[in-house]
This record gives sequence, structure tokens and C-alpha cells, in this order.
Amino acid sequence: MSEPRVEQIVLASRPQGLPIPANFRLEKVAMPAMPEGGSLLRVLYLSLDPYMRGRMDDRKSYAKPLGVGDVMTGESVCEVIASDRQGYAVGDIVLAPTGWRTHAAMGGFVPMRKLDPKLAPISTGLGVLGMPGFTAYAGLSIIGKPKRGETVVVAAASGPVGSLVGQLARLAGARAVGIAGGAKKCRFVLDELRFDASIDHRAPDFPKQLAAACPKGIDVYFENVGGSIWQAVLPLLNAFARVPVCGLIAQYNAVVDQEAGPNLLPATMREILSKSLTLRGFINYEFANEHYPEFLKTVSARIQAGNIRYREDIAEGLENAPAAFIAMLEGRNFGKALVHVADAP
Ligand code: NDP
Repeated sequence: MSEPRVEQIVLASRPQGLPIPANFRLEKVAMPAMPEGGSLLRVLYLSLDPYMRGRMDDRKSYAKPLGVGDVMTGESVCEVIASDRQGYAVGDIVLAPTGWRTHAAMGGFVPMRKLDPKLAPISTGLGVLGMPGFTAYAGLSIIGKPKRGETVVVAAASGPVGSLVGQLARLAGARAVGIAGGAKKCRFVLDELRFDASIDHRAPDFPKQLAAACPKGIDVYFENVGGSIWQAVLPLLNAFARVPVCGLIAQYNAVVDQEAGPNLLPATMREILSKSLTLRGFINYEFANEHYPEFLKTVSARIQAGNIRYREDIAEGLENAPAAFIAMLEGRNFGKALVHVADAP
């Protein structure tokens, strides 16, 4: 009998700027042995997230960079196909940090979470009911703290983080203004996600349009992008505005020491001082122990009640993960970027 083959995608070389297909390599390896006290998993859906771009660089950050030849990092929804781990049985559907591969062996110490396929489609465990959804929930409720009647602005508004930020802001009684790339995404943000306004950041007069959409200024700016969007937002911030700094995707492909654009630091510092602004960076997991259960309860109830909507953009096959990842970094995804790796049982 031939040995089962497992596919995995590794970092073949470090990107200079936007990744290219040659930075990734598809490998076939033998099925790993089941670790004692652990489980063997079959990957069904793989999540593609902007943070993975940072792991590809050899730069100091909040997480260790990947080595060349390492399997790309990532979380996925999996079926347990063999288990020696207490509480996990064959057939269970779990979230696990498998990386970009079709099968994975997980030691008993690796954090995994069981999903209930009856509660919501299992793919939502990687989006609206997973890490990106929690990021939106935690950043907005703990740092942004929107009040009734205030204006909340968020960019990458059709994506998993931004779409939930705006919908939660509206449910809190605030006015939600979404920034997105292109007419199709802007329509979706307005019609489907029911934001109060949406602005295309590619429009030549984007700063003017943003100012018109925020006649009373901005009280909460949920920062997902940075760069020229921050430049347009900064003069519109009200006194005591809160800025949860969640992501800076416009800068992720910048080549070190060649960061493009004007130096916004002096203007930013002046506004922080003169308007008593609060800028607070965060990584979602710092809030997870305390707030994850309440997030799951609140957001799943609101999805079931039809108050929260979401969209997924699913690529087919592990071999297409690099192309879908590059597309996301260029804004060509429309909804939470996922890869369908295998059918659910
Ligand atoms: P999305 O699925 O929304 O994908 C990224 C989107 O960013 C693109 O579709 C594009 O949307 C937008 N974008 C990319 N480049 C630019 C650019 N140069 N200028 C303006 N917009 C750009 O991503 P997520 O919802 O998963 O993540 C959103 C942000 O949240 C990211 O910055 C990510 O790193 C961050 N994040 C932070 C976490 C934390 O713990 N702090 C956890 C999870 C995410 P469009 O076409 O609409 O411009």
C-alpha cells in the first residue's frame, strides 16, 4: 500500500514588498504519526489573515517570524480523524493552529476549540465567530466604547473585522461610516451591512467625501489600515476621540527603510495632545481569557436574530492558498478570506 501523502505550503523565500507565488512552495510529505495524548486532524477550511504577511519577514514583532522552509502559519477548521486526547473524539470539528496543510498532528498541549456545526456554519469559526470577529468585538467594546449618537469610522469595512465593527457600532446606537475599496464593496457595506455611509478610499477626493460623511467629526476611529486613510481621518477626530489601533495593512508590504508617503508623526502627536486623543494598540488575544465567552454568546445570538451579517470569500484547494493570500493583501478579497481544503464529513 502506498503511504498517504500530506500536502503543505512552506515559506520558500522572504518577500520583498508584496509576496509573489515564488515565495511559497507546495510540498508532499508523509502522514505524521499521532502524538501520544494528542490528535490527528484533517483540515477542512484554512483561514488567510493579514498578520501572516508579518510572519514572512525576519523582523522583530509580537510573534516569532517563520524560518525559510517552515510551514506557513495559520488557523483552520478541522475534523478529528484519530485521537488520544481527552475530550476530543473522532468526528469532532475543531479549530486548531495547523498551518497551511491538509493534515496535522496536534500535541495534547496545543490549544484547540470544539465547534458545534448545529450552531453556525463551521467556516464562521475562522471569521465572524472566530479571531477576526473577536478582534472587532474586543477592540470596539473595550477601547472604542462607542456611545449613542457618536460617529464610528472603520476601514476595510467589508472584511471580517471591519464589517463587525460597523454593525456592532450601529447596534450600540452610534453612526457607522465604512471605508472600502471600490463601488461593489461600498454598496455591500451600505445595503447588506446597513452602515450609515460608505466611502471609496480609491476616489480622488476621498478626504473630502469622508469629511462630508462625518459632519459631526469622528468619535471612534477603528484603525485597520494606516497610511493615507489615517491621514484623511486625523483632522476629523473630535476631542476625546478613541482610536483602537488594530491593524496597519497599508504598511505590511513596505520594504524596511523605504516606507513611502509623508511623515505623519508630527501631525499625529499634535492632534493627540491638542484633542486629548486616546490611541491604544492591541492584539486580540490579550483580551481573550476575559471576554471570549461573552463575545461568542453575544455575536452568535445577533447572527441568529438577523442583526449581524457576514460574507466569506472561499478559494478552492490548498494549492490556491498563496494566490488567494496575495489577492487579500491587494484588496481583491470580498469578505473573509478562506480556503476550502476538504469537504466536511
Ligand atoms: P480583510 O479581509 O478586510 O482584508 C484586508 C483588506 O484591507 C483588503 O480587502 C482591503 O480592503 C484592505 N486594504 C488592503 N490594503 C489596503 C490599502 N493599502 N489601503 C486601504 N485598504 C487596504 O482583513 P481583516 O478583516 O482580516 O483584517 C483587517 C485588519 O485588522 C488588518 O489590518 C489586520 O492585520 C487587522 N487585524 C488585527 C488583529 C489584532 O489582533 N490586532 C487581529 C485580526 C486582524 P478594501 O479593498 O476595502 O480597501
